[in-house]
Amino acid sequence: MNEEKKGIVYLIGAGPGDVGLLTLKAVDALKKAEVLVYDRLAEERILSFAPFGCEKIYVGKASSNHAMKQEDINKLLVQKAKEGKTVVRLKGGDPFVFGRGGEEALALKEENLPFVIVPGVTSAIAAAAYAGIPVTHRKIAASFAVVTGHEDPTKADSSIRWKELATATDTVVFLMGVENLPKITRKLTENGRDKNTPAALVRWGTRAEQEVLVTTVENAAKDALKAGLKPPAVFIVGEVVKLREKLQWFDNSPLFGKRILVTRARAQASALTELLEEQGASVTEAPVIKIEPPADNYAAIDGAIQNIEKFSYLIFTSANGVREFFARLYFAKKDARALNGAKVVAIGKATAEGLSAYGINADIVPKEFRAEGVIDALKDKIDKNDNILIPRAEVAREILAKSLEEFGAKVTVASVYKTVTETENGEKIREMLLNGEIDIVTFTSSSTVTNFVKLVGDANLLKSVKTACIGPVTAETLKKEGIEPEIIAKEYTIQGLVNSLNDLFSL
Ligand code: SAH
Repeated sequence: MNEEKKGIVYLIGAGPGDVGLLTLKAVDALKKAEVLVYDRLAEERILSFAPFGCEKIYVGKASSNHAMKQEDINKLLVQKAKEGKTVVRLKGGDPFVFGRGGEEALALKEENLPFVIVPGVTSAIAAAAYAGIPVTHRKIAASFAVVTGHEDPTKADSSIRWKELATATDTVVFLMGVENLPKITRKLTENGRDKNTPAALVRWGTRAEQEVLVTTVENAAKDALKAGLKPPAVFIVGEVVKLREKLQWFDNSPLFGKRILVTRARAQASALTELLEEQGASVTEAPVIKIEPPADNYAAIDGAIQNIEKFSYLIFTSANGVREFFARLYFAKKDARALNGAKVVAIGKATAEGLSAYGINADIVPKEFRAEGVIDALKDKIDKNDNILIPRAEVAREILAKSLEEFGAKVTVASVYKTVTETENGEKIREMLLNGEIDIVTFTSSSTVTNFVKLVGDANLLKSVKTACIGPVTAETLKKEGIEPEIIAKEYTIQGLVNSLNDLFSL
């Protein structure tokens, strides 16, 4: 055992579900976790922040049915910390709001083991907020209480002071209360709360599965039963619930609850996923391609980079191309300064944004983002004296280079990466499609289409879902596979694709 390295435990609040509600500090800790201890409320995407080699230990089922006893969880944390490990203990919401985080911290303290507490966004406030219910509001609610609904309120030695609680705060939020609703609501009214007080249940708040039931204290138990509403849910009692009529937002979005499969290259940032989730869509990512070095092992691009000064134009066609080009430039001990007076053309906003990360403001970003658009934008500018470099993917359409050559320019096309089919996850995605668990599949390039079909083995699987393409070229590729796309984005960008999806579903 390494005596030098001291273990440490991060007790982290993972928030209520929406991955975007994780704190930066939580993500930092997850990235360096050697051991990750988590329970049911943790989203899979959150777990994926941990490094590949991290040991992931699942310790819990439903709140009433713990897979591992609290005592054993405490022991596990102590043991791993003593082994010198960096341990992340991930908890839903905030670790100290009915998370038993305090007990775990005490167990570590007893053994003199260091720990860090990272508070999280609690469902008590966030689930309400995503339902359009502010827990306090000027002139309506000046206080709120967060109460366990898990305890049997009828037991004689209840630790909840119902007599005071029923009327002490304007808003009362119960966690873990779904099964005890009849008793909770009875206790509230018996102790002086008006039975007509507005109330709401928010199940799976902040997630695409969010369900909201608006009722009153008197009717809550009956309505929940009728709706078949199951845990986990927060139960919110108070006049603030009425504000939902005006403030409902998350579950208003046309994409709310839609199950979308995003096909993408693993190396790409999941900007599309983020945008869709912001609108309440439930996104599954299907990486269908991954990026590898080109077949010539960078010979062409490295050759071009040796004489980079001689080029008068650089045309980038993808953000991946930008990143890989600058990596090669850097390996050659050069940087953006070597581009000198060359004009830089970016096809697509994402490509232009990729360039700005290297301090380059693209001179030309053609209005139309296809190769044809670039040719239009350049035809009056390019002549036979121009020397053009196009760093791009190994297999790409030839039309751009050919047309530019027709203007008399000298064109060098150099591969900076190649995309190959991802083979993992094919079976899982097939099953999701077969079981009707997907509503929409998005395609952001021709290669995502081709590789997706390879991954799942049969294009016909797409017949039972809606398909959305980023532009006409991608759509053409899909049509060749025998699938008619429902959506072709009007603007050929990620945002354009999201806008078109929104348009379709708000009809
Ligand atoms: N520490 C957590 C609460 C743990 S107790 C927090 O701060 O949020 C578990 C209870 O939290 C559940 O029974 C449910 O009442 C509530 N809960 C957790 N996540 C939720 C969500 N996304 N939507 C609604 N309720 C949630």
